[in-house]
Amino acid sequence: MAHLVTLIPGDGIGPEVSEATRAVLNATGAGMEWDVREAGTAALERGDSTLPQETLEAIRRTRVALKGPVTTPVGTGFRSVNVALRQELDLFAAVRPSRTLSGIPTRHPDVDLVVIRENTEDLYRGIEFERGSEDLEALRRELTRLGGVELRPDAGVTLKPISVTGTRRIVRFAFEYARVHRRRLVTLGHKANIMRFSDGIFLRTANEEAEAYRDVGYQEMAIDEMALRLASEPERLDVLLLPNLYGDIVSDLCAGLVGGLGLAAGANLGWEYALFEPVHGSAPDIAGKGIANPVAMILSGVMLLRHLGRVGAADAIARSVERVLAAGEVRTPDLGGSATTMEVAEAIVGGLERD
Ligand code: NAD
Repeated sequence: MAHLVTLIPGDGIGPEVSEATRAVLNATGAGMEWDVREAGTAALERGDSTLPQETLEAIRRTRVALKGPVTTPVGTGFRSVNVALRQELDLFAAVRPSRTLSGIPTRHPDVDLVVIRENTEDLYRGIEFERGSEDLEALRRELTRLGGVELRPDAGVTLKPISVTGTRRIVRFAFEYARVHRRRLVTLGHKANIMRFSDGIFLRTANEEAEAYRDVGYQEMAIDEMALRLASEPERLDVLLLPNLYGDIVSDLCAGLVGGLGLAAGANLGWEYALFEPVHGSAPDIAGKGIANPVAMILSGVMLLRHLGRVGAADAIARSVERVLAAGEVRTPDLGGSATTMEVAEAIVGGLERD
C-alpha cells in the first residue's frame, strides 16, 4: 500500500536533510509517495507568503506531513511558519523524545525523556502589541482603567493565554501517551506561583485530570527546579508535560543531554493531522555545505512511519541509525566526524533490513 505524504523541505539545511530522509524512507520499500510543497524563504522567493495556502491545503488532503526546518526572521513582522502551521492545523501536541544512544558520549549515561509540549496557546499564541502602535495605546489605557497598571510607554506586549480546554486535551494526551508507551512518570513543569492565572490553570487542570490516570505516576514541579533536575539527574525524569514556551526551551535542553540537535526528532499531532519535523532549526551557519546531520529528520521520519502503522520499516531504520552511530565511522561534524549528510544517509540505507 502506498502512503501519500506532504513533504516540506523548508530552507537552510532543510532541503539537505529532507533529501537524505527521503532516500532512507524510500529505501525501506514502505511505498512512500511524496507531495512536495514549499514554505518559508523558498515560498517567499517565489513571491508567495511564507505559508502558502496550497501548502496548507495539501496537508489537509494527505493529513500527514514531513517537514524540514524553516527560518523565522528574528523580531520582525513575520509570523513564524511553524507556529502558524500548528495553529492552522490545530496540532496541539508536540512529542519530542530524547534518549541516550550508544556511541554518543554524554554527561549522563541513561537519559530517556519525552517532552510533551502544548503547542497552540501560551506566549506563542501570537497575541502581540507593537511598541508605539495605536492598539497598544488602547491596551495601555484599558489596563490603567481596569487594574491601575501603568505600562512603560516604550514597552511592547505579548499575551499569555492558557485555557482549561487547551490544557485538558494536552494533559489527557500526555497520560494516554504514557500508558501506551509504558512510561512510569509524568512530570508537569510550571511557574504557577508567579503566573497564577495562566500557569495556574495549567497546573490545576492537570491535577484534576491526573486523578483519572492513577496507574501512571504524576508529579508537578516549578520549571526552574525542573531545569536544575535535568542538569543534575535527568535519568530520574521520564515524560515532561509542559506549556508551549517551557516545552520549546526544555526540548533543546533535552536534545543537548543526549548528543545535540542533530539527533532530536519530533512530532506535532492533532485530532486530524500529523506533522513530523526535527527539533532543530534551519542552521544558517552550516547551510549549503552538505554537512548537516540528517539523523534528527530521519528519526522524525521513523515517527511518521510508526504513525502510518509501518512499524517494521520504522524499526528497521531505527536499528540502522543506532548501528551507524554506535560504529562511529560515518558521522557528521556536529558529532565529531567528517562525513557528509548524504554519506550518513547512505550508511543508514546500507544497514537497512527490509521488512
Ligand atoms: P538551529 O537549530 O538552526 O541551530 C542551532 C545550532 O545547532 C547551530 O550551530 C547549528 O549549526 C546546529 N545544528 C542544528 N541542526 C543541526 C543539524 N541537523 N546538524 C548539525 N548541526 C545542527 O537554531 P537557530 O540558529 O536558533 O535557528 C535558525 C533558524 O531556524 C531561525 O530562523 C529559527 O527561527 C529557525 N527554527 C526553525 C525551526 C523549525 O522550523 N521547526 C525550529 C527551530 C528554529
